[in-house]
Amino acid sequence: MRLWRKLMIGLARSESITGFMHGSRLMNRFSRQFVGGGNALEGVQRADELRKRGISASMFVLGEYEDTEERVRSMVSDLEEVFPLLREAGLDQHVSVDPTQIGSMLSWESCRENAVRLGEEMAGHASGRCTALMVDMEDASVTAPTLDLYAALKDMGLPVAVTVQAYLHRSREDIENLVQGGAMVRLVKGAFAEDGSVALTSRKDIDERYRELLGVLFSDQARESGVYPVIGSHDHRMIEHAVKLADERGWSREQWEVEMLLGVRPQYQSELVRQGVSLRAYLPYGRKWWPYSVRRIGENPRNLWFVGRSVFGV
Ligand SMILES: Cc1cc2nc3c(=O)[nH]c(=O)nc-3n(C[C@H](O)[C@H](O)[C@H](O)COP(=O)(O)OP(=O)(O)OC[C@H]3O[C@@H](n4cnc5c(N)ncnc54)[C@H](O)[C@@H]3O)c2cc1C
Repeated sequence: MRLWRKLMIGLARSESITGFMHGSRLMNRFSRQFVGGGNALEGVQRADELRKRGISASMFVLGEYEDTEERVRSMVSDLEEVFPLLREAGLDQHVSVDPTQIGSMLSWESCRENAVRLGEEMAGHASGRCTALMVDMEDASVTAPTLDLYAALKDMGLPVAVTVQAYLHRSREDIENLVQGGAMVRLVKGAFAEDGSVALTSRKDIDERYRELLGVLFSDQARESGVYPVIGSHDHRMIEHAVKLADERGWSREQWEVEMLLGVRPQYQSELVRQGVSLRAYLPYGRKWWPYSVRRIGENPRNLWFVGRSVFGV
């Protein structure tokens, strides 16, 4: 499985394969399953459709590992396009961002400046309780600066949230610190092929750790400090555990939510909405769909079936 993930990450990062795939005509077909649209307007229209089905969205412009000033500038302006469109549509949504989209490969200072700019724009357009700039978490070499980035924005009073990967050995301590600060935390298992020196590597251990961290996120202390847990998983066992903890410990359905990727386990997503669980879809949009799709397949080979079905129309 680790080899599979490494292979998929290699494919996602290959410039020649990416260039070839983006020039191909597969986008429309692929987008039916996992991608919200080719631009911000189509993405917002998709978010509006989801809202009508009781699902909120976390908007994500496709693209990562931007390594020149020009590419970072272009990505930041793509990200900025979405705020007025969301406001026009009357949608209060999350906007997810990877540090490598907004300058961390150039310098963390540049990344912070861009994040502050986005956070301020978001604050200017926001009216809903849940609206946040959600910072995604990339590989283990950048966990510390990514948490520092989150803390800097939070200190400035900007609407920011952060993702924590359960598989990292350091995550229990990170979650405890975030709980003290009353953070909005998206807990995920972790998608990168990390070494055993920094992360758990067996599925069983990762699941156990995920449950343990759910216990911290749904603690009385967390509720008192205003923590908003976001359960970033498609795993019904983790979600059922979260529902159980939340119900037992008196958390209302407005105080936490589940977030799943657009198009993954769609029937289960509808079932959660029927059960009254607050559900958010991670909604990617834009032209750069290849690295994103390959990463989804890397996470779960079962997603290969969905992609194949969309592309070949079977
Ligand atoms: C909203 C969101 C944001 C994320 N952000 C980040 C991030 O910032 N950084 C990061 O490293 N990772 C991120 N991830 C990815 C995450 O770390 C995991 O790699 C990914 O979600 C797979 O783990 P899982 O909990 O969904 O369940 P898995 O461990 O993949 O699956 C567990 C079980 O769930 C069920 N299941 C899962 N997928 C399917 C499917 N397609 N069809 C049927 N059954 C299925 C099966 O029973 C499976 O055995 C994010 C994930 C989500 C949902």
